[in-house]
Amino acid sequence: KAPSFVREIAPYRAGKPAAELVRELGLNPETVVKLASNENPLGLGEKAKVAIAQAALDLGRYPDANGFSLKRKLSERHGVAAEQITLGNGSNDILELAAKAFLKAGSNSVFSQYAFAVYPLATQGCGAQAKVVPALNYGHDLDAFLATIDENTRVVFVANPNNPTGTFLTEKQLLAFLEKAPSDVLIVLDEAYNEFLETDQQYDATQWITRFPNLLVSRSFSKAYGLAGLRVGYSVSSSEVADLMNRVRQPFNVNSIALAAAEAALDDAAFLKKTFELNREGRAVLTQGLQALGLEVLPSAGNFVLVKVGTADNAGALVFDALQRRGVIVRPVGNYGLPQWLRISVGLPAENARLLAEMPHALAVLD
Ligand code: PMP
Repeated sequence: KAPSFVREIAPYRAGKPAAELVRELGLNPETVVKLASNENPLGLGEKAKVAIAQAALDLGRYPDANGFSLKRKLSERHGVAAEQITLGNGSNDILELAAKAFLKAGSNSVFSQYAFAVYPLATQGCGAQAKVVPALNYGHDLDAFLATIDENTRVVFVANPNNPTGTFLTEKQLLAFLEKAPSDVLIVLDEAYNEFLETDQQYDATQWITRFPNLLVSRSFSKAYGLAGLRVGYSVSSSEVADLMNRVRQPFNVNSIALAAAEAALDDAAFLKKTFELNREGRAVLTQGLQALGLEVLPSAGNFVLVKVGTADNAGALVFDALQRRGVIVRPVGNYGLPQWLRISVGLPAENARLLAEMPHALAVLD
């Protein structure tokens, strides 16, 4: 019999694959729009495509177990030692490795209400306790984090920007928090959406690790870099923390194609720039378009927006369903405790326009 802490875990709920919905709902696959998983609407960049095709020719071999080449490139990029980099099968893997290395039964992790769903999963998977801090204006209340951290806290998860709310903490707020947080607690700063920050929002937390050796900065190749299907992410931490994570890591946790594609994606500055601009533009179009329908939209620093579609407790589910039947797939966030809201990823201009055109029809289900 599995231990009760395992049986009590509520599994991660990913959206249904678009192909499955197309079949189930009898939709036209040509016109279905998926704005549900914060993916890059451009798909793969050209450089990544070439690297993937090349790496695919050598799949009879194991991948480089230590990801030497990708780590070297990342260490140059961030100006840190290669020993400070940990590679993950998606940044989810990084979050889990941090939990595995630092949490056990009797200890706890601290994170915000409305924060990313993997924090409780990673915590509970170690038999540790999840301590949830009430949100402040849908974002992280870092003062309340400090009050919640206790002698059993070993890990704190901070998402910046946060998913699903899109809320953002400034460099000043983060540094003030790091100054006051206990130095024997690992602070996981999850920056999966970092590349979407505006110039005046940007900061480089990897440079803070010398001052705060308890800081781990997590990044993803799934969002701006467009490699969601390959599963690759990484962290920058002190080499001591990286060494501990390496001990609990599965050998060969990142596959050969992912290693090669991530390296190529890092070199594709033009693709990243195009992605950034497309997102900035699309996020503004979605925000203004939804506001024009009289809906509340949270200001977002990510590649998605969170919109309140109604006041009824099932408003999110109803509008989600209506949109889906009209061929537009978004993400309901009732499992985050936000049953009146929907999370909508920024798509291509035509996809954003389609969402805005279908939304008034979908909202009619609430009448
Ligand atoms: N952190 C946050 C805040 C996220 O939203 C996501 C993706 N939904 C991840 C981490 C994990 O992304 P991946 O494992 O694809 O890198």
